[in-house]
Amino acid sequence: MAGANRQLASRARKIYQQLLDEYGEPQWKPSRSGFEQLIQTILSANTNDRNSGKAFETLKERFAGDWDAVRTAPLEEIKDAIRVAGMYNQKAPHIVETLDILFREEGSYSLEHLRDMEPAAAQTYLQRFPGVGHKTASIVLLFSYGMAAFPVDTHVQRVTQRLGMSGRRASAEKIKAVWERLLPEETYFCLHVHIIRHGRTVCKARTPRCADCVLQDECDYNARLGDWKSTIPE
Ligand code: SF4
Repeated sequence: MAGANRQLASRARKIYQQLLDEYGEPQWKPSRSGFEQLIQTILSANTNDRNSGKAFETLKERFAGDWDAVRTAPLEEIKDAIRVAGMYNQKAPHIVETLDILFREEGSYSLEHLRDMEPAAAQTYLQRFPGVGHKTASIVLLFSYGMAAFPVDTHVQRVTQRLGMSGRRASAEKIKAVWERLLPEETYFCLHVHIIRHGRTVCKARTPRCADCVLQDECDYNARLGDWKSTIPE
């Protein structure tokens, strides 16, 4: 078992290094406060970055950046402002509830107190908010505060499963735990950003471009593909 774990950790390091060689070192810089990142991430469920970004900007503009006004506004006004992000019937009450909790517990619309928490405690804290799962919580922690949290979206889940770094049907939560166990925390940002890029451009959902992939020597899916091809008569 220990040997299998060592082997998996060694593969994880190789994958990380190959992605780093291929795509370079991404620069971490927080683009938004943790609070704004949280609202933005609530808006991003089941839509693309462009639409969730638009919804976020419209919401801020409509209420002149006054989050107190958003909290106390009629729900229909919030829904209208975030309509472009879809699922507004669900997202609008989630935003209001989030604002309510922060206002009640912190007296302000800020998550800066997360800086004083351990990553695991901060993760649990954020997952109390409506509609916030481990992915949203990890995004806020990693992107806004540079904390040790590895977010797993559909790209990260798919690529990890295909590589064989997890079971073929492993949940996103399980995959998060796998990478966090195998690699040091200073790699999380780079690995997350690069696996997503790789999933969008090479290891695509429908047709992975294995022949062009720098990870093919470490990939179970590619190995199985090779085995299958070798059974086809010339
Ligand atoms: S070899 Fe194919 S399946 Fe494996 S990571 Fe690369 S593109 Fe994805």
